[in-house]
Amino acid sequence: MRVAVIGGGIAGLSTAWALTRAGVETTLFERGPIPNPLGASGDHHRIIRRAYGSQGGYQRRITEAYEAWAEMWDDIGKNHLVASGFLLISLHPGDMGEQMRQGLADQGDPHEVIPADEAVRRYPYLDAGNVREVTFSPEGGALMCRHIATDLALWLSANGCTVRENTEIAAIDHDSGEVRTAAGEISGFDRIVIAAGAWATSLVPDLQSVLTPWRTAVAYLEPPADLADAWAASPVILETGGTSDGYVLPPVRGVGLKFGTGMHKYKSAPDENRDVLPEEGTAIIGHIRPAFARMDEYRITNVVSCAYIFTRDEHFLTRRAGRSTIVSACSGHGYKFGAAVGRRVAASLIDGDDAALTRWIEARD
Ligand SMILES: Cc1cc2nc3c(=O)[nH]c(=O)nc-3n(C[C@H](O)[C@H](O)[C@H](O)COP(=O)(O)OP(=O)(O)OC[C@H]3O[C@@H](n4cnc5c(N)ncnc54)[C@H](O)[C@@H]3O)c2cc1C
Repeated sequence: MRVAVIGGGIAGLSTAWALTRAGVETTLFERGPIPNPLGASGDHHRIIRRAYGSQGGYQRRITEAYEAWAEMWDDIGKNHLVASGFLLISLHPGDMGEQMRQGLADQGDPHEVIPADEAVRRYPYLDAGNVREVTFSPEGGALMCRHIATDLALWLSANGCTVRENTEIAAIDHDSGEVRTAAGEISGFDRIVIAAGAWATSLVPDLQSVLTPWRTAVAYLEPPADLADAWAASPVILETGGTSDGYVLPPVRGVGLKFGTGMHKYKSAPDENRDVLPEEGTAIIGHIRPAFARMDEYRITNVVSCAYIFTRDEHFLTRRAGRSTIVSACSGHGYKFGAAVGRRVAASLIDGDDAALTRWIEARD
């Protein structure tokens, strides 16, 4: 079987990895470099965590996600998980910080509920006046995306996969298995995997009714000098509480302190609106600041735009069209499942069980 994988984000790279390990002749096409900073997987890092609120199916799949990463670390010879654990901050009763803590409790996952006064002692960047409760989970941390992509691309090339960077696929014939590059080169494959992230709908316009690309941005900040050590030792913050829909990655492995929020996003085609406006850093901080003390003393060092794609209910998506399998480990929470998604997609190509892939990816059980 000859397989083309379109997209060198975490879903495409991991699928190519799992296919190559299984001895399948694989060609990976990526329109930019690997890692591609314009793709959702091209940022410095992403959070892996066990806590989910209402999407319990994903919480139940995290053990498999960890197993798949461990298998990948063995292959590439490096572990790119910074296992800092994570915090959930609650500002109001019933907010996402509390809902996620409940999800951990319901599933019997390890966690410690820390009263506000003790939390502020341990994590002095928190705002004593606003924080109501903090939950610490020892499992979880930051996946270093750019190192993962670089090492996966090297592993793929060394193990017989053809990796074609800077090669955009312009058209796909799902029935014949032919793909045409933007430069006009045509090649034929037995199967095609489309893992094009926020660009999926330009390759498969039929998906426009179920997938919508969005644009967001993240802000890198320099904390006040006396809080630098506390941040450097901090777990990742999965939820900043209240209505903020925010998260924070502490400075790890040479990458700065990063703030992001699902409140700062709008619908946009992935190649549009990629320039950052001067006020965006302040807008991001505005959503997240209630949980943190002395936010006026932080300095914005960089703001970066990001493109991702959503289904209506934020569950991932897979579809079969002729010889093509489309996979979208989409929205703001798909990276952590990348290695596991890759193994699952590869398995479906090899054993032909599309229904099993759909069940796993959609995670409704
Ligand atoms: C700001 C932000 C924060 C997030 N935080 C988290 C988090 O903490 N934890 C988590 O688990 N997830 C998180 N996510 C989600 C996660 O980043 C995505 O779910 C995941 O990276 C998607 O990977 P992908 O491979 O499907 O898509 P992408 O990474 O976007 O990869 C798609 C690739 O396909 C390439 N491509 C597109 N079209 C073509 C073509 N025609 N020909 C060739 N190549 C093509 C693109 O260049 C791109 O590199 C976050 C997302 C964002 C934007």
